[in-house]
Parts: sequence; C-alpha cells; structure tokens
Amino acid sequence: MPALPAVLDGPALWSAQAHMPSVLGRQLVVDRGEGCYLRTTDGRRLFDGTAGLWHANIGHAHPALAQAAHEQMLRLETHHVFGRFLNDRAVALAEQLAQLSPVDDPKVILGSGGSDAIDVACKLARRHWQRAGRTTKTTILSREHAYHGLHAFGTSIAGLDVNREGYGTGSLVPETARVPVHDAGALAATIAAIGPENIAAFVTEPVQGTGGVNPPVPGYFDAVQRLCRENDILLVVDEVITGFGRTGSMFATARFGLDADMVVFAKGVTSGYAPLGGVLVSPALWRPFYTDDAATPVFRHGATYAGHATACAVATANLRVLEDEQLLPRVEVLADRLAGHLAELAARRPGVREVRTGGFLGGVSLVDGIRAEDVADALIELGFVSRPLRGNTLQISPPFTTTDRELADLVGAIDHAVAEAESR
Ligand code: PLP
Repeated sequence: MPALPAVLDGPALWSAQAHMPSVLGRQLVVDRGEGCYLRTTDGRRLFDGTAGLWHANIGHAHPALAQAAHEQMLRLETHHVFGRFLNDRAVALAEQLAQLSPVDDPKVILGSGGSDAIDVACKLARRHWQRAGRTTKTTILSREHAYHGLHAFGTSIAGLDVNREGYGTGSLVPETARVPVHDAGALAATIAAIGPENIAAFVTEPVQGTGGVNPPVPGYFDAVQRLCRENDILLVVDEVITGFGRTGSMFATARFGLDADMVVFAKGVTSGYAPLGGVLVSPALWRPFYTDDAATPVFRHGATYAGHATACAVATANLRVLEDEQLLPRVEVLADRLAGHLAELAARRPGVREVRTGGFLGGVSLVDGIRAEDVADALIELGFVSRPLRGNTLQISPPFTTTDRELADLVGAIDHAVAEAESR
C-alpha cells in the first residue's frame, strides 16, 4: 500500500483562502501598520503595494479612525437596526452615503462586508421581481473572471471557476449564468437564450479586480446599460474595490456614466478599519417596501451587526480623512503616474506580457515562463507587497497616501524582480 502523504500542521488559524501545504512554514504574520508600510513578526518592513486586499486606502493605523472607534465604544459599541430600533451612527452614515451616492435618492442597507452586500443585492433583485409578480425573473448574470466575494451568492456568480467549483452543483445558489468579460454581443445572445423573462439582474465590477485588473473596453458599459434597460434586467454595480476613490471618483458608476439599480460597496467605506459594507438601493426597488399599506412586505434581510455603530463611526471618520487630506485628487495624479510607469515597464521588460490600469489600480501580466507567485515572493525579499491575480498578473493598488517616490520604487522593484526571473 502506498504511504499516505504526511499531514502538515501549523497555527490553529486556518487561512481558508490559501493552499495550506504551499504556505505553511513561510506565513508572514503582520503585527503593525504604519501609513503605507507593514511590519511583520520576523522583523520585515514592507511597502503595502496592494493596500491589503484593496482596502487600506488611507494607509494603516491612522489615528483619526482609532480615535473615532475609541470614542464610539465608550459611548455605545453598537445597537441593532431591527424593527423600531436604529442607532444614531448608522443613521448618520446612511445620510452621508446617500449624499455621495451615484444612485439618485437611494436607501442604504448596511452589512458587514462585500460578500454580505452581494448577498443582499442578489436577494433583493430576486425579491423585487417576485413581489412584482414576475416570478420567473430569477437568474443572476455575471461576467467571466468576476469576483464578488465568497458568501453563497458570491460563490455562485463567481466568474473565476475555482471559486464556484466543488460544491456538487454548477451554482451553489441555483439560477446563475456567466457571460464573456468584454463582449456585449455575447451578453445579448445569453439574454436571448435564457430569456429576459427569466433574468433578474446583471452584476458587474466597473473595473474587474481579482480577475486581473480588467478595465472595461470602450463602449461596453453603454451596451450593457442599454441591454439591461431594454430587457428589464436590474443593473448591480459591484464597487467593493472601486468605491470611495480608487478610480479617482468617489464611485466608478458615475465615472462610467452608469445608471445602476443597486451599487454594492465595502472595503473603502472604512478603509478596512472596521468590517462594513452595504448596498445603495434605487427608489424603484425600495419604494414598494415603504408603501403605507398593510400588505407591504418586509424585505427580510438582517444581521446582528448590520449598521454596527462603531463601524459606522469609523466610516464617517474615514470619509472625513478622504476629504481633509484631499485624497481623491491625489488618486487622479497617482493613477496617471502609475499608467506612465507601467507603460515604461512593459516597453522595457520582455517578461511583461501586458499592463492594465483602471485608476490607481494596475495589473502587470507576465509571460508564461515567469510565475506571478514567484515574483510576488521575490518582491517580499525586496521589501514590497504585491499579489498574484488571475492571468499570471501582479496586483498594484497601494494606499492613496503613497508618494511619487514610493510608487516609482514599487514599480522599480517589480522591474528588478522580473529581470531576475528573465535571467534564470
Ligand atoms: N466584490 C468585489 C469586487 C471584491 O473585490 C470583493 C473582495 O475582494 C468582494 C466583493 C467581497 O468583499 P469581502 O471580502 O469584504 O467580503
């Protein structure tokens, strides 16, 4: 009988989004953040070239947010928002978000993060059509290479097959379908094949992130918008990465001229200082739940921490920092600089197959013989964090507080690491 492979052990903490045998023994434990830098327990100081998972937009360990959390917890850690109850921080944040919203006259549903908010948006899309008596409109469309988190709906509508597979059905939640990433003609054909009477919503990131940093091709979103309108398909824009400034605008929905029925946000709303996400909901969807009539239904989505008061206070402080430190205009500058650096890198390095940007986020795709995982490891040794994404691509999305020098150094380090890999 062949010997069974050894089972490796390690810390009690299971990183459920890691291939454990590949990471055990070389996990990096971060124990401090300082602006754009991270410190690890093995004594490294790393430039955070990804802002964590695209969340640390204002940089790490900002005292204003720590102060906001401290003061809020001394006053009221939280109170739920079920039934007659609200808490003042959730009320105030929702008002602020409604002011900033690219959806006119929205209501705001708050939750704990991006995956949670995607569940809300997909549930509400289906609930909307059930309530309206168009009961066959259930299918949720999404794009190839899409990432919408890993709760039940996010898993089901993932355009990255590895995230959808292994649960015994093609889609954990039934009735979902994928369309090619940039092809409006294929979207039209899928709508015709499934039948618009069976489709509830189309969910899309404005710039795909985890899928490899894929900005839209010209004209794509105009066609998407038209197809959604013509076929009564709700348009759900997933701004979990792009929301709160990553493209230089508060929301990419406005930047790309999209008229969304729902906008999903998370990460940048608190810059990751507290778990918070939510959905901006348009009047056509919220009004039927507000009608003064005994027959008016309850949407029925809630969680203990929906509208968590401390998370909301932190979000309000984060929005103030974005404004006080003028970080959105800075993103416009950084986005230009990044595009320039990456164009030069692509021209100089044969190991770079393609570069893509969509605001202050970039992707560096490498040729087949050079693995993004290996280059990301080499970058750690040089003092920089990047991350492999789909398509053998390195992620670049540093905090908005990055200096010109730090950005140049990050791209310089990538240049160096790719050159080393080329020479092997
Ligand atoms: N949607 C997009 C576009 C994301 O990039 C992510 C996370 O990276 C999510 C949803 C899920 O968000 P969370 O990880 O906060 O659940």
